[in-house]
Amino acid sequence: MHESLPQRVRFATGEAAAAVAAEIDELGARRAMVIASAREAEAAARITSGIPVALRHDEVVMHVPVDVAERAREQAAEAGADAIVCVGGGSTTGLAKAIALTTGLPIVAVPTTYAGSEATNVWGLTEGGTKRTGVDPRVLPRSVVYDASLLATLPGELAVASGLNALAHCVDAMWGPRVDPIDQVFAVEGIRGLAAGLPLVAAAAESVEGIEKTLYGAYLAAVSFTSAGSGMHHKICHVLGGMFNLPHAQTHAVVLPHVLAFNAPSAPEAEARMASAFGAPTAVDGLAGLRTALSSPKALADYGMPEGGIAEAVGPILAAIPDNNPTPVTEENLTALLTAAWSGEHPTTSSLRSGRRGDPEKSEESR
Ligand code: NAD
Repeated sequence: MHESLPQRVRFATGEAAAAVAAEIDELGARRAMVIASAREAEAAARITSGIPVALRHDEVVMHVPVDVAERAREQAAEAGADAIVCVGGGSTTGLAKAIALTTGLPIVAVPTTYAGSEATNVWGLTEGGTKRTGVDPRVLPRSVVYDASLLATLPGELAVASGLNALAHCVDAMWGPRVDPIDQVFAVEGIRGLAAGLPLVAAAAESVEGIEKTLYGAYLAAVSFTSAGSGMHHKICHVLGGMFNLPHAQTHAVVLPHVLAFNAPSAPEAEARMASAFGAPTAVDGLAGLRTALSSPKALADYGMPEGGIAEAVGPILAAIPDNNPTPVTEENLTALLTAAWSGEHPTTSSLRSGRRGDPEKSEESR
């Protein structure tokens, strides 16, 4: 079974204002709430200049703390908002979703990163250091406007990490707990788009061709991931991010090659399709080559995870990994994987599966 989520998508490079106006018109909305952080406020003002705005809201905080969501909901109610336009990354879309969750207000999402939240029906809220997530049809944006020109300002390192976050959606979708053949088609095509676009973006942050290809891949990534569900990779990142307050996109960028190397030998068909999308002999080689070209983030230690945290994280991660994960996960091989990701060692399939550590001297990715 495959369920397609109902959503309209407009690719509108340089034309977000007209596309948003058309979507607001379609909704018949008269009192839009515009959400954008201070950093995105100017772009948001430009994009929403042609629509009736009742309220502008700029309190955006990563992982959507409950009190931030509550304040935004109150303001939406006071202003009598009848639609939400959000301009920003996953944190901004996340706040719009938190409002939609309790009010049912329709969202028009204008993404400025490759996080992909705009194409999922998943919401997330944080309280007391714990992030809760859930699925609800009300939080799926009614429409998405992709304007590549808005991502030209994304700093290079963040663009790469965010793009690799999208790539992680594709890879994890290949063996997610609800994966179906249609998810895999989207995921493989997503890898193709990301592998083509990201090197162009890394070479020139403002490359419209690169951003358009990457956005196309990021959208397919999110569509495949939301249908297939969280696999091993996302369970690891979710636990680590929550425990050690790690940056979202960079954590995904570091962990991904380790999970791919861990699962690829046990999922040969998925591996071959991913390899072909990367244009490489194996998927592991393809990802390694792309990461080298992008100067990708390498080690969780660089983002503040303590070494002692590895042992702490193993139990909660083991409990969360879906039963259908291609390679059986044990305390020993998971500890080896986390140790390699923590220190930035080259992921090698044989060392991870036997529980030994990789040899940093042989690695193009070793620090
Ligand atoms: P983010 O939205 O927190 O943005 C990161 C930083 O980049 C911010 O400082 C932001 O102001 C800045 N920024 C954003 N766009 C920019 C641009 N074009 N130019 C310059 N600066 C820009 O980060 P993110 O990685 O997009 O989103 C992460 C959040 O999204 C996490 O909370 C994650 O859990 C959530 N998420 C949710 C889903 C879902 O399906 N619900 C999917 C992916 C991510």
